[in-house]
Amino acid sequence: MKEQIIRLAKANGADLVGFAPASRFEKDDPIFKIYPETKTVICLAFRVLRGNYRSIEEGTTYYQYSTMAVENLEETIMPGATVRVANLIESFGYTAIPQRRNQAIMQEEDGTNPEMLYNAIYRGKTAENTMNYTESAVLCGIGERGFHGALLTDEFGPMVRVCFVLTDAEIEGDAVKEPHLCDGCKACVRACTGHAIDEVTGKVDDWQCAVYYNGANGLRNPFMPPDAYAEFENRLEIIAGEAKVSPELARKIMDATFFYPPIHHGYTASFCGRLCDIDCYCHLEEKGVLTKSFHTPFRKREKWSYSIEDFK
Ligand code: SF4
Ligand code: SF4
Repeated sequence: MKEQIIRLAKANGADLVGFAPASRFEKDDPIFKIYPETKTVICLAFRVLRGNYRSIEEGTTYYQYSTMAVENLEETIMPGATVRVANLIESFGYTAIPQRRNQAIMQEEDGTNPEMLYNAIYRGKTAENTMNYTESAVLCGIGERGFHGALLTDEFGPMVRVCFVLTDAEIEGDAVKEPHLCDGCKACVRACTGHAIDEVTGKVDDWQCAVYYNGANGLRNPFMPPDAYAEFENRLEIIAGEAKVSPELARKIMDATFFYPPIHHGYTASFCGRLCDIDCYCHLEEKGVLTKSFHTPFRKREKWSYSIEDFK
């Protein structure tokens, strides 16, 4: 059955498939609340096309990454593949529960998801047990956790997204990878256009991230008018990516950041272009540690930037 699952998942767009016995998970892991009989966790990982990052890297178009690499993967391709794998498992007489990240539901009362409009998120849904996606992928042998919390894979570095199937079928697990990719270089921290990553712990401040993912850094936003954020005293700090925001201030800034249309299903366009992941990818590529190679390096030229003088 394992071979058939891998074949079907890959035929439906998954690039990596990993298996973990439920015994690898802590007793209070959400997987046991979702399905107490879980015996095996299966992770399907999908590459985010390297080409999808190009237009933000070049500052040319912004719709493509969020539509193709976030919305289309999360809402269409990944659920489709996961349901087909679950169908296959159930055809063997076992129960299979597909698990995709619901981008709009959060257990925390005051959390946010930078990839979505902050006011499209339902918060405080404490009965909602959502898997810990990165940790579960690590336990399935897909990759390791990088300093800034991204899942790093041997093949694609941080350019992957994951979903899962929980099943009561007992399937042989894959080995958990010994961490070897992240060397603590902190290129991810330096790359962030909004100083959202703590340089000591690597923790991402989600509200800070949301503000700058959504385009508050004017030096990296071709659509921002010169008089943007006129109502904010510290407008130049905001535009330079140097403002420290509270959740309340973050909401206000994002309400004033509609210079570009949102994507469907509440997703927003990424203006930082996930530079934390991109600079990590470039670093791993330069070191030659990624197994999926390309004919040319990802980064073709120096990063572009507007001047803060343009906004004075
Ligand atoms: S950029 Fe460096 S420190 Fe950050 S996750 Fe990648 S390898 Fe680790
Ligand atoms: S680079 Fe973008 S996605 Fe990464 S932490 Fe900063 S704002 Fe968030």
